[in-house]
Amino acid sequence: MGIRGQLTLLVPGVVAIALTVVAFIAVRQTNRDALEEFKELNLTALEALSVTVATSVAQNDIAGLDTVVAHAAERLEARGLVELAVLDDDGRVMAHSSPERFNRLLTDPFSRQAIEADGPVWLREGAFLRLGTPAKSGIRWATVTARFSLERLEDDFSMSRRRAALGTLGLFLFIAGAVFLGLNRVVIRPVKALEHSVRRMGEGHLSTRVPPMVAGRELRELGDIINRMAQALQAERENLERTVTERTRELQEANARLERLAVTDGLTGLFNHRRFQEALHSELLRCERHKRPLAVLMLDVDFFKKVNDSLGHPAGDELLRRLAEVLSKDLRQTDLIARYGGEEFAVLLPETTKAEALQVGERMREAVEARINENTTWPQRITVSVGVATFPEDARSAEALLEASDQALYVAKRQGRNRVVGAKAA
Ligand code: GH3
Ligand code: MG
Ligand code: MG
Repeated sequence: MGIRGQLTLLVPGVVAIALTVVAFIAVRQTNRDALEEFKELNLTALEALSVTVATSVAQNDIAGLDTVVAHAAERLEARGLVELAVLDDDGRVMAHSSPERFNRLLTDPFSRQAIEADGPVWLREGAFLRLGTPAKSGIRWATVTARFSLERLEDDFSMSRRRAALGTLGLFLFIAGAVFLGLNRVVIRPVKALEHSVRRMGEGHLSTRVPPMVAGRELRELGDIINRMAQALQAERENLERTVTERTRELQEANARLERLAVTDGLTGLFNHRRFQEALHSELLRCERHKRPLAVLMLDVDFFKKVNDSLGHPAGDELLRRLAEVLSKDLRQTDLIARYGGEEFAVLLPETTKAEALQVGERMREAVEARINENTTWPQRITVSVGVATFPEDARSAEALLEASDQALYVAKRQGRNRVVGAKAA
């Protein structure tokens, strides 16, 4: 059962028990007080009467005694008087509110007690209250006894019980309602809010916060603790996400670097042999599909060995770097140049016919001859020989294209170097 259900049962239960006990005690006390007041009032009246009775008896005025008793009985009837008697020491009736009782002998225990007692006596007999008092005037002359009906008092009692019950019910509804509303505001609602927020956090919504609430200190502190916990968790998660993003980016960069390294020539920064092979195969597939031409240029430095021999390997390396710069300068975005091996370079020219490829080869050869020898003194004039082969006219496979361009290069070397030679159409 939820907290709301439990409190709905518990609060009215406790309030009802408390109110019933209080009402019961209050009604009992009220009834007791009312009975006491009734007794005192009538006893006072009886004591006043007893003075007149004593005088009448002392004077042996039996007729006067009857009148006094009759008048008193009449007066006290409104208060519930049932009978009024004047007894002598033996219990014989000297006067009575019902005259036919005259001279009867009353021997019941209360009458005897009243005759023997020195002062007033009283006894509750079910729905009646009996009172007795000595009638004295110097000496004791007689005893006055009376019987009152408690019927009216009982009516008052049940009325006050009903009133108390109604009042208790009203008070119960008011207190239970007020307590429930108060608890709803300071306990149930805050607990529900806490439950809702914590559930949302548990579902991963760490930006959820327990809203500010009217509640006891402990619940508010609990809300603050939960909020601080969620904040810490959220910060931790954001931190983690940032770290993961950063690591992923670093990893991607490292991968890209590795990939570049794997396809780059360390000395010249051009693509390497492997990348050239891949590009040649994929470009060839594309050109086959679209029926477009593709050209391969194979360049080799003339008498490169001499540079190494006379200036040393580092100078040879420097020459290779310069050549890479010059050769890649005027190429299109779609062209690809690679260091094929040693002092050989290979160029891939998609969408290029043989005539165009020969022109490109010639431009490269001229650029090397002009630019490389500009400000540097090499052991000989640096030139390159170029072999050109094209798809589809010279060859139809990657291997055949390479073979054909290599053959053309060989021919260029044989014909005296520093020239561009196209492959013989297969
Ligand atoms: P030709 O091609 O005109 O016939 O003459 P060549 O002297 O260029 O002939 P060859 O192919 O025999 O020589 C190529 C030389 O290039 C041999 C090798 O020592 C040198 N070489 C290859 N790779 C490198 C390199 O990375 N750095 C340097 N410095 N030299 C290299
Ligand atoms: Mg060579
Ligand atoms: Mg060479």
